Amino acid sequence: MSFDFQVTARDGAARRGVMRTAHGAIDTPAFMPVGTQGAVKGVTQRDLELLGAEILLSNTYHLYLRPGDDLIARQGGLHRFAGWTRPILTDSGGYQVFSLAARRTIDEQGAHFRSHHDGSAHLRTPEKAADIQAQLGSDVAMVLDECLALPAEPGDVRASMERTLRWAARARDRFLALRAGEAPGVIVTNPGQAQFGIVQGGVYPDLREESAAETVKVGFEGYAIGGLSVGEAADVMYDIVARTAPCLPDDRPRYLMGVGTPSDIVEAVARGIDLFDCVLPTRNARNGQLFTSQGRLNIGNARYAEDNGPPDPACTCYTCRTFSRAYLRHLFLAREINSATLNTLHNLHFYLDTLSRIRESVSFGRFESFRVAFHQGLSSQPHDS
Ligand SMILES: [Zn+2]
Repeated sequence: MSFDFQVTARDGAARRGVMRTAHGAIDTPAFMPVGTQGAVKGVTQRDLELLGAEILLSNTYHLYLRPGDDLIARQGGLHRFAGWTRPILTDSGGYQVFSLAARRTIDEQGAHFRSHHDGSAHLRTPEKAADIQAQLGSDVAMVLDECLALPAEPGDVRASMERTLRWAARARDRFLALRAGEAPGVIVTNPGQAQFGIVQGGVYPDLREESAAETVKVGFEGYAIGGLSVGEAADVMYDIVARTAPCLPDDRPRYLMGVGTPSDIVEAVARGIDLFDCVLPTRNARNGQLFTSQGRLNIGNARYAEDNGPPDPACTCYTCRTFSRAYLRHLFLAREINSATLNTLHNLHFYLDTLSRIRESVSFGRFESFRVAFHQGLSSQPHDS
């Protein structure tokens, strides 16, 4: 089945829709839990299915280095390898090359880097990023973009944005060759794969608008906004999203990469975004931080030592229905593996449930009242941090 996206309801700039992929449909706006190594840390694929996760994100950089996309292709692709039958989106690996890899240098050809595992030398080009994702067989592949170190001068941001556009055209050419079966040596494990372009341009609205227009000219199944949530103030990010989203085709999904907090997600939906991913719910769970309807809660805090209430009184997840704050604090302090698991189950439930409530409110024309109530709830108890 080929890729398709349809908007089914609108409320202001917020949209509800359905994104159809080779491995099933996703109700949008949607949140994608991050499974860096083909696994979401702390929970199993069965847990994710029970939580209602409709799509996962996996990281190309990690899977390319270990166990290798060649091996995964020989195993039938990432879905079969990882035992996950629902949709998968893979990033291009660019962000990790720029943030994790050692001794990286960037030129027009691509990114030269050394593995953070063994120091081996690698070259990541736009074409190679497309090849790796074809072998992984994700349902949505991302183009390789240049991730600029911040803060950056406007001239450098423009040069980087223009290089990302040239890379986008190369990535699209390669993707179409892969789709046409004209890429010998590459095992295409998912013929129904779609490819998304990425808008760059830093915090400069004019560069963002230019990047969006030129990326749309290349032509992709969907579009992402990259390079945000990298240290800029929230209101700056919201403004850039508000300026960029309307420059993208109304009939294609819009993905805000790496964002963000529950508040960020609600505010980005209000500005027309459909897809999100973020490590916050899973990473913070392992660090003992729970996202709740009343704000964040650090479960290791001494004030929860004898608190027999659930983490979030409004939550219906397995963790909240079964365990007290006091018990979860004990597990966290004792460094039990179950601490990470139970906290992750709750945080992912909170994120996925928030997106579910967003979708419902858009369908019923009540998004604005949901948005106000949601923000009020988050500040209804003193935050632990
Ligand atoms: Zn819960």
